[in-house]
Amino acid sequence: MNQELTEDQVYRYSRNIIIPEIGGEGQKKLLASKVFCVGAGGLGSPIALYLAAAGVGTIGIADSDNVDISNLQRQVIHSTDDIGKTKTSSARERLNQLNPDVNINEYSKIISKDNIREIIKNYDIVIDGSDNFATRYIVNDACFFEKKTLVSGAVLQFEGQVSVFKPHLHGPCYRCLFPEIPPQGVIASCQEAGIIGAVAGIVGSIQSIETIKELLNIGSTLDGRLLIINALSMDINEVKIKKLDSCRLCGNSPTISKLCDFTKQDCETD
Ligand SMILES: [Zn+2]
Repeated sequence: MNQELTEDQVYRYSRNIIIPEIGGEGQKKLLASKVFCVGAGGLGSPIALYLAAAGVGTIGIADSDNVDISNLQRQVIHSTDDIGKTKTSSARERLNQLNPDVNINEYSKIISKDNIREIIKNYDIVIDGSDNFATRYIVNDACFFEKKTLVSGAVLQFEGQVSVFKPHLHGPCYRCLFPEIPPQGVIASCQEAGIIGAVAGIVGSIQSIETIKELLNIGSTLDGRLLIINALSMDINEVKIKKLDSCRLCGNSPTISKLCDFTKQDCETD
C-alpha cells in the first residue's frame, strides 16, 4: 500500500516493527500518517517527540508563542539556546534532529474559529495540547464538524486528564462532558496555579500512545472514557463519558451549527 521501508528505516523502527500489533505494515502506515498537534508546550513537547520518534510521517504543530525561560521547566522539546525563537521553529529543529523522516508543518499563529477547519482538513487526527478553554472548545467543535478524532489532554498542578473523542463515530464529544466553557477566571491556568513538568510528560505520553493506536486501529482507546491522574496521591481513576442526547453540538437537536467566537459568546445567536 505505501512505499517500502528502507534498510535504515527497518533498523530505526525495529522496536516498533517487532511488536505484533504494529509490524512492517503498521510502521508504513505511521510513516504515511498526518497528525495535527495544538500547542508546542508542556503537552505538545512529549506528544511531538514521541510521535516523531515513532515515525509518524507528518506532524503539524500550532503555537503562537516564543520560547521563554519559564517554559523550560516542563516544555522539554525546547532548550535554553532556543529562548526567543518561535516555539514552532524550535520544535521543528528538535524533531528534525531526532528523526529526519518526519515532515513538520509549522503554524506559528493563534488557532481560531477562522483558521482551524481549513488546517485540520489535511490531517488524520487532531491532538489537543492547548492551555486554555477557548482553544479547547474551538478544537472540539472543529473536530466534530470536520469528522476528525480528537485526542484531548489537560494538566494543572499535580493533576492530569486525558480522553479520546470520536462523536462522528457515535462516541461522546468534549461538550458531552463539559457542555459550556467555564467563565473566565473560574478555573486557574497553569500560569496562575502551576504545573509539575512530569505530569505533562505522563499525559502527553498517553496522548501519543492513544494517537498511535487510533492511527493503527489497534487496542482499546480512551474513546468514551476519561482518565484522571492525581500524581500527588498517585491515583489513576477512570470515568465513563456518556454521549449526551442534549449535547448542543453532537446531540439529537444540536443548536451549535458553526464555530463560536468565545470572546463574543456568539454561539448563543445561532
Ligand atoms: Zn457532544
